[in-house]
Amino acid sequence: MPGPHTFTGEDLAELHIHGGQAVINAVLYAIGRVPKTRLAEPGEFTRRSFLNGKIDLTEAEGIADVIHAETEAQRRQAFRQMDGDLRRKFSDFRERLMTARAHLEAFIDFSEEEHLEPDILNKVKRAVKSVQVDLKECLTDNRRGERLRNGVHVTIVGEPNVGKSSLLNAICQKPTAIVSPIAGTTRDVVESAFDLGGYPVLLSDTAGLRETEDVIESEGVRRAVSRAVSSDLIVLVLDADQFTHVAPSSLDNPDSFIRSRLASFGIQPVENQRVTLLVNKIDLVPDEVAQQWRTSLPKEFIFLSCTTNTGMRECIGKLTGMVEELCGNPLVGEASLTQHRHRSNLEACAERLGRFQELLDSAEDVTLATHEIQQALRFLGKVTGHVYVEEVLDVIFRDFCIGK
Ligand code: GDP
Ligand code: ZN
Repeated sequence: MPGPHTFTGEDLAELHIHGGQAVINAVLYAIGRVPKTRLAEPGEFTRRSFLNGKIDLTEAEGIADVIHAETEAQRRQAFRQMDGDLRRKFSDFRERLMTARAHLEAFIDFSEEEHLEPDILNKVKRAVKSVQVDLKECLTDNRRGERLRNGVHVTIVGEPNVGKSSLLNAICQKPTAIVSPIAGTTRDVVESAFDLGGYPVLLSDTAGLRETEDVIESEGVRRAVSRAVSSDLIVLVLDADQFTHVAPSSLDNPDSFIRSRLASFGIQPVENQRVTLLVNKIDLVPDEVAQQWRTSLPKEFIFLSCTTNTGMRECIGKLTGMVEELCGNPLVGEASLTQHRHRSNLEACAERLGRFQELLDSAEDVTLATHEIQQALRFLGKVTGHVYVEEVLDVIFRDFCIGK
């Protein structure tokens, strides 16, 4: 296939052969005898494609993410990125900033001459402002895309014996954590990665929260608290007996009830962290009581039994909904940032644009201000690969498989 209309942009030959190992070995051996041939490095085709300007860096990352996607939502997000959704977005920013820079340079060079539009500086300021607005929207995405790419961290907490480990096993549908009637069985964080309705979830079961003299157990409690505070969603489990002792009036505002209960264990969820409450062992209270709870209390509370599986579908539905909200629907709306690298460079870009405005407003130093646009473009270029260093490429292409 002659270039440049190939994946790498170079001339390419493809051999279609039978897949038996001996056939492959014989063909590789034959090719290996041709002078100047060697096996491709991992990701080398994609790297060449990038270096030849066929794709940008975000599209290359998209290819890697498609290969590594484990759930349907991850695959869809990766596919959009591979397909150029982020490239188009950032190219648009880039073009607008390059136009602004060109106008500023014209202003610097020709400001003495008359044919220059008098209002040009204000025009540039407005154009840069609109890029700032779009950048801000891009950055205030609650990290949806990164969360979807890396997995949503969900942590189950509660007092000993309420059924946390049983819940983890029931949700993951495999016996991962040890279940026992002995309080203090789970002492370390037990983690299970699984696919929840197409979303990648890292579910952690933790040691029961209580005061204890046992050194190992109290270390377990410390880890439980620290895992909870660093997770995206905290699932607080109470058993039906504990729930019976809760004053009904405190249940009117579910979120603040859950947060105050968590606070009593030393867990202070931050603003964008989600919390939910599950009441387990519903099989141990009379049916009338369970029914009354379900009908009279806010819908946020889920009642279930890990033993009889009552309410399990509702529970999984609720968790899936929350996880979906945390990741967003990858098919709807603007493409999301998916890597920390995107975010940190765009933040730096936005900061430079802020300085640009300040410099024009306060000092009216067009030359210095233009330099800030130049820097902003550099940070943007780092995201797309218009500006790159070999080491960054090595990191990005290292994770590819051979032949891609
Ligand atoms: P953890 O300490 O919170 O992790 O609780 P476990 O999952 O180890 O469960 C503690 C005990 O409660 C075990 O004996 C479980 O079999 C039992 N258990 C868990 N869920 C239920 C439930 O829904 N109903 C009843 N009756 N017992 C349960
Ligand atoms: Zn446990």
